[in-house]
Amino acid sequence: MAWDPDHIDLISEYCDRWCERCPLTHRCAAYTRESDPAEIEAHSEAVEKAMEELRVELALPEPAAQPWLEELSSVPEPTEADQKELDRAYHDGRARLRSDPMMIAASDYSIDAYTWLKLYGDLTRERAAALSHDGDSPEAAVLRMEVEGVLDALAVVRWDSMLIAAKLRRALTGKADGEGSFDDDAAQADWNGSAKLTLLLAQRSEAGWRLIARWAPESDIATQLAQTLAALRADVERAFPLARRFVRPGFDDPQP
Ligand code: SF4
Repeated sequence: MAWDPDHIDLISEYCDRWCERCPLTHRCAAYTRESDPAEIEAHSEAVEKAMEELRVELALPEPAAQPWLEELSSVPEPTEADQKELDRAYHDGRARLRSDPMMIAASDYSIDAYTWLKLYGDLTRERAAALSHDGDSPEAAVLRMEVEGVLDALAVVRWDSMLIAAKLRRALTGKADGEGSFDDDAAQADWNGSAKLTLLLAQRSEAGWRLIARWAPESDIATQLAQTLAALRADVERAFPLARRFVRPGFDDPQP
């Protein structure tokens, strides 16, 4: 496989990883890599070879002779005290994250959604499928559409159930560490991308639960799960006011 100039940089950093449903698999290096690791390995070797050839052709110095590399390698190892301080800061940061009300809500949501789906997912699917029937009346057609919607909603909430907390964790960690902003535009900070994805997932799962609640046993719980996501979304919007402005490569920008 040749290197593909159509691949979009960082596209897989801000997607829902649902490749089966993704319209941009042909623009995604991660998808290609995961689909065919052997070819990627061959590709990596080819890139390395090409870089070496280029270096020789341009008579570039050996990488080790680069001043910035020397500078980097001359950074002293942290002392024991420094390392202790770094470890303490790391553990404090993780403890703060675990006690963040948004993180607690998202983690609880994951567990509740998983439990509900385990208990009632199949039942809801069967109930919806049983009510759907062939027939060419407008009512039957509407019913079939609704059943398809419910089945899709079940798939969506299942897919998102763990992802929401994972993306929120990345957003909160990134913001706390203040890392990952490669752009002058503050909205393009990495944590805003993760927060935006959290919002999009929460939004579609919330809609999913509201539809499921119309068909499911224990529909009160399904409604509560939708409400939990609505509240979480409001909190995330407040904590990441620029998140909606983040442009996700490939998904939010015009395709060349
Ligand atoms: S961008 Fe699409 S193809 Fe690539 S990892 Fe994400 S969902 Fe999968």
